[in-house]
Amino acid sequence: MAEWDLEVFWQETMKQVRSELREQEFGVWFANLKYLSADENGIIIGVPSAFFRDQIRNRYQNMIVSKLSGLAGRNLTLNFEISPEKNIKQPVLRDDPPAVSGFSAEKPSQTAPPQPVPVVKPPKERHPNMRDDYTFEKYVIGENNDFAVNAAIAISRNPGTVYNPFLVYGGVGLGKTHLMQAIGNYIHENSENKIICVTSENFLNEYVELVQANKMKQFTNKFRYTDVLLIDDIQFLQDKPGCQDELTHTFNALLDAKKQLVFTCDRPVSELKKFSERLISRFELCLKVDLQPPRYEVRCAILKSTAKNQGVSIPNEIIDLIAKNVSSNVRDLIGALNTLIAFTRLMGVPITMEIAQQRLKDVFVAPRQANMSIENIQRVVADYFSLSPNDLKGKKKTKNIVFPRQLAMYIAREITDFSTTELGQSFGGRDHATVLYSIEKIKGQLLTDPTIDSTIESLKRLIKEFSAKI
Ligand code: ADP
Ligand code: MG
Repeated sequence: MAEWDLEVFWQETMKQVRSELREQEFGVWFANLKYLSADENGIIIGVPSAFFRDQIRNRYQNMIVSKLSGLAGRNLTLNFEISPEKNIKQPVLRDDPPAVSGFSAEKPSQTAPPQPVPVVKPPKERHPNMRDDYTFEKYVIGENNDFAVNAAIAISRNPGTVYNPFLVYGGVGLGKTHLMQAIGNYIHENSENKIICVTSENFLNEYVELVQANKMKQFTNKFRYTDVLLIDDIQFLQDKPGCQDELTHTFNALLDAKKQLVFTCDRPVSELKKFSERLISRFELCLKVDLQPPRYEVRCAILKSTAKNQGVSIPNEIIDLIAKNVSSNVRDLIGALNTLIAFTRLMGVPITMEIAQQRLKDVFVAPRQANMSIENIQRVVADYFSLSPNDLKGKKKTKNIVFPRQLAMYIAREITDFSTTELGQSFGGRDHATVLYSIEKIKGQLLTDPTIDSTIESLKRLIKEFSAKI
């Protein structure tokens, strides 16, 4: 064995890692790693994408390096090379891994039958109903979405077996559609599974059309004989009983046949209104994961990755400016960046701080104000707690009124630009110190009572919906 023929150590390391991880976790992260080469300092591993490389680095690099170095008796490094071949099958991943006892690599003998020449498959045509840029590679992972992404990857690799059915929920522009289609695109590219990807509006329209044309069988057959069914934004099926029934039957049939179901929704299942109990009970079966708005660091990473994908280099101070000012959701974040890129391209000027501040000033203000009046906030919060807006403005200090009042002030401060003085005036002529006290009170309760956070999120969404309607 040459001094730097370290493949055998790599295989032994993989064997050890495999015995320590759950089979599924091993399958997700290690199935596509390929030993490429080594020198005296360490080894180079092929990974299918930058996404995999970063994940392996963050999660497993220390573990791998310590095992490898232990086996070799000296410190080794682990380097990665992105090798785009898909479906690389590692010997170590076979059901029956080759023996590596004594660490002696068994090279194929001279008389071994010739190996079949690998057929290089042409890239598959994109799926007609999915965006080809909605992939895992382009999905930035942070603590706001890592559980959801892990589950989505596991599903992509083993559709219909793990985490089935699966439901992703969260506010507008947080990446639900992207994540769902990343599952679809991965399965499309790596298998022959039949995939249907629809918005719930399309599902509904097709249903209505075929019912009217007396072609129900055609509808049933289409949706029940697929391997993967992805339905986006199920909340739009609200108040459509016939279509809901059909979806319930489809759901049952596909689940019985171990076919993968993935849904997205803009709210938790418990908040879906005007849905049949039977369908709700189906959705309750799902593994439900929520997407949260990304924190500052993740927002920066998303901006950098988006700029890179467009071949544009953006100074860090501008990334910082946008990330600090647009925190509501990823769609607005990317929208702000795209506005800036489009403008500077059109004008043929470089992206400077001055231009960024100038061009984005409306964007920065808009999401906070977003049509929200204090009155709307009071109406929605009062309604939620079965009170009247006057209760929130009044003087009563009973517990059932004080908490909603403080919550309304807290939310108003969060989603509008009104000062505490202005807020105080709108809440029955209170002074700004009272508003501040209320906000601090809620902040304190947030630390000890996890349910308040979700109440606030639900209220914010209801306020948004209410404001959009009027
Ligand atoms: P939703 O369906 O939740 O409303 P989308 O999936 O349409 O949101 O995402 C809005 C935009 O933000 C899309 O352009 C999407 O590619 C992008 N996006 C969302 N989350 C991420 C992420 N984690 N990394 C990169 N881009 C993201
Ligand atoms: Mg969407």
